[in-house]
Amino acid sequence: MKQNKIIIAIDGHSSTGKSTVARAIAQRLNYIYVDTGAMYRAVTLYCIQNGLSDDSSIAGCLTEEKICIEFRRNDTTNTLDTYLNGVNVEREIRSIEVASKVSEISAIPAVREFLVKQQQAIGRQKGVAMDGRDIGTVVFPDAELKIFMTAAVEVRAMRRFRELQAKGEQVNIDDIRKNIEERDYRDSHRATSPLKKADEAIVLDNSNMSPEEQTEWLYNKVKEIERQEY
Ligand code: C5P
Repeated sequence: MKQNKIIIAIDGHSSTGKSTVARAIAQRLNYIYVDTGAMYRAVTLYCIQNGLSDDSSIAGCLTEEKICIEFRRNDTTNTLDTYLNGVNVEREIRSIEVASKVSEISAIPAVREFLVKQQQAIGRQKGVAMDGRDIGTVVFPDAELKIFMTAAVEVRAMRRFRELQAKGEQVNIDDIRKNIEERDYRDSHRATSPLKKADEAIVLDNSNMSPEEQTEWLYNKVKEIERQEY
């Protein structure tokens, strides 16, 4: 039986573990994994580093010569690190400073247009698991499988807190929770490509699920689709 590869679009609220599940399913299926949040974070970092704050000066920098974002494999962690103009920025893009500005920068239509084009180019060959906020609604409206992930905000804040603590960062759980709630609000209320569940998306509330259980759940969904399509 021929098994063509599909596009798996994973959207949802902040800090729901979208990247963890997308990465794991991509590995299991031998798919490409794309963390689009990292791309918005990299553009935000570029704006911070270059003191850019108004929409028109940001729009003026949106060329691949000025902002070149790449993902390269880290042989130690066996995951993909984000590079901005040839520099590994994986750590900086996860900082609270970037997290507090990223929703504002990603609401700028020119920024979205710049990154969506690159995301669509990556997905053209299919065999992609991509996570973000608008993957099933805007980037790949025809994706064969659309997932919308959510979890209780307390659970999300605690997971993020533990993750940052494990990296040795000094963090306060109330600040993390506030940042998560603010990002959800901004992402869902912006004019361009707001975060919303695509009509056909399947909701995955993972408040009480381990990453392994989520990956298994998702793997079964992919297999169901393959059975229906071929
Ligand atoms: O997924 P992550 O939390 O790293 O995303 C960081 C931010 O980037 C989100 O809060 C959102 O503002 C923005 N984003 C977006 N569209 C995407 C992915 C991320 O607007 N497809």
